[in-house]
Amino acid sequence: MKGQKSIKPSATVGIIDKARALRQAGVNVINMGIGEVMADSPAEAKEGLMGALEKGETHYVSSQGIPELRDAIAGKLVRENDIQVDADHIIVTPGAKYALYLGITAMIQAGDEVLMPDPGWMTYEAIVQMAGGKAVYFPCLEENRFSPRIEDIESRVTPKTRMIIFTTPSNPTGAVLSLEEVKAIAGLARKYDLLVVSDEIYEKFIYDGHRHSSIAAISDMRDRTLTINGFSKGWAMTGWRIGYGVGNKSLIERMTTMQQHSVTCTCAFTQRAALAAQLRSEDSVRALVADCQKKRDLVVETLNHIPGISCPSPQGAFYAFANVTETGKTGDELSLWLLEKTGVITLPGSTFGECGKGYLRFSYALPRDQVEEGMNRAGEALMGLSR
Ligand code: PLP
Repeated sequence: MKGQKSIKPSATVGIIDKARALRQAGVNVINMGIGEVMADSPAEAKEGLMGALEKGETHYVSSQGIPELRDAIAGKLVRENDIQVDADHIIVTPGAKYALYLGITAMIQAGDEVLMPDPGWMTYEAIVQMAGGKAVYFPCLEENRFSPRIEDIESRVTPKTRMIIFTTPSNPTGAVLSLEEVKAIAGLARKYDLLVVSDEIYEKFIYDGHRHSSIAAISDMRDRTLTINGFSKGWAMTGWRIGYGVGNKSLIERMTTMQQHSVTCTCAFTQRAALAAQLRSEDSVRALVADCQKKRDLVVETLNHIPGISCPSPQGAFYAFANVTETGKTGDELSLWLLEKTGVITLPGSTFGECGKGYLRFSYALPRDQVEEGMNRAGEALMGLSR
């Protein structure tokens, strides 16, 4: 595999094993490092899955994804995102991550440079490396609400730049890009003829009346953009492995060929589950998001009461990205110290890039009692630091 030696393991996936090992060793762990909603998946998804199993849908299906699910997703994209597509523009993959993998490796060549956010989700760099490309980071700083400044992106464009990747709402900061910011990125893509990957997996988690903007809704952006989404986050269905990519037909055809020769297809019965979830679980999604907003408020308020720590209220996703620079400890030191002292797992901001140094990421998509317990323990310990 190209560049495999320098590919770092995923910290957010690795945390699952780390928490299990600690629990087995008897540590009473609260895992606020995870990247998923710890709630039950919707009943409709389970019914969809059981129905498919009873009908014997346990065989290979279309590599692009079952037509009924692609139709339902296309309907959602037109209705909710104003992205004018049909089922032919969609590929269903085992998780959104695999749509990213197929799409990026289909689109870039060895030596291509790919612009991506810092702090940002580290899997983008790993995939770009596997495809032989080079990650080039643009800063998304707290002073600009963790949004990128367009001049910071433009100054990094070179003749080798082929693609820009961005995430809204963001992991790890929760920043939601405004329509104006998305339009400015579209302007750059046009000016420098860049391909765009828009990762919208946290789309459902938007608070305080903010709105999600899809770059592919801008008419001339549709064909140069790969939109990434799926059922993992909004429907609490990470383990079902259902995601999708949306792009121009020739890109989707290439991705489908790659899927044929790698995993063949996404599991038949989880696709039926996703179809049921897409068509019938909007209420469960709304309830999950409303619950997350309350937990966000609790976490942000607790963190802002701690001397040396400040945490802007995130507009989206389910992470609080707390600035810990004034504590006199680095994010890495604090994360380790918190784990040893309290059993609360967090991720140091450095996991997400240079610009994440000095931050700690707290995931609040846990059951309410665990969020309370985690913040009680962490809050008390961190308060003690300043005494
Ligand atoms: N995109 C972002 C920004 C993520 O944070 C994650 C998971 O943490 C994914 C994509 C992957 O989603 P999936 O579980 O559907 O592969």
